[in-house]
Amino acid sequence: MVVTGGNRGIGQAIVGRFLAAGHRVASFDMGGEPATGALGVNCNVTDADQVEAAFKQAEEANGPVEILVANAGITKDTLILRMSDADWDAVINVNLTGAFRVAKRAAKSMIRGRWGRIVFTGSVVGLYGSAGQVNYSSSKAALVGMARSLTREIGGRGVTANVVAPGFIETDMTAVLPDDVIAKYLAAIPAARLGQVAEVAAAVEFLASEEAGFISGAVLPVDGGLGMGH
Ligand code: NDP
Repeated sequence: MVVTGGNRGIGQAIVGRFLAAGHRVASFDMGGEPATGALGVNCNVTDADQVEAAFKQAEEANGPVEILVANAGITKDTLILRMSDADWDAVINVNLTGAFRVAKRAAKSMIRGRWGRIVFTGSVVGLYGSAGQVNYSSSKAALVGMARSLTREIGGRGVTANVVAPGFIETDMTAVLPDDVIAKYLAAIPAARLGQVAEVAAAVEFLASEEAGFISGAVLPVDGGLGMGH
């Protein structure tokens, strides 16, 4: 299997969980040590040549990719009037186009093998919206369209494509948020706490399991109830 952005945060927890379950895991990221037992592959998902080379390396080491978790993501938050084209492009290029690149490449062997699991890491804000995140929430909402289109296109070949939609999870990405923003979120989350990376990893493992073979095009929230109804 391949996890993008597997060296930190949510991706690292996903890598650890699948390793523990006995999978051969390749982590595509731009540096850092992968978890013991994982194959660390240097890959910037904004670069098509690097994506192709990374898949070749992963396939040589681990065989055909049957499970893909497209998890790499960045934020460049600011209000729309201040959001530059560069802020927009950077986020769309990693979060959306990067996911497209790896899904396209992984789909090849999944279609051939007539079995595959694609899980995109979306976000509660993809459907809930978030002030200051027009670029980020657009990129995450688009992953729902991608999963659903893939479902219609290759669902008949034994491949599922789903979105896991984390809410506010304690990672490097959220550690930089100001205290007042965190307090506002806490007040809005019915579970009255932030989420843990292990809770997202468990949901991803389920969506990638054999038993989840009849679940496709779904959005599975892991958000303590924050996005209910969205
Ligand atoms: P982190 O900031 O902790 O980690 C981001 C990961 O993405 C890193 O492994 C990073 O690799 C990788 N990455 C970033 N850019 C690229 C790139 N161009 N090519 C390859 N890898 C890249 O994020 P989180 O763990 O918090 O988030 C993981 C995913 O979950 C993201 O998609 C995020 O949007 C989503 N999410 C997070 C939430 C949260 O509350 N934390 C809530 C909802 C969704 P490197 O270290 O090499 O830069």
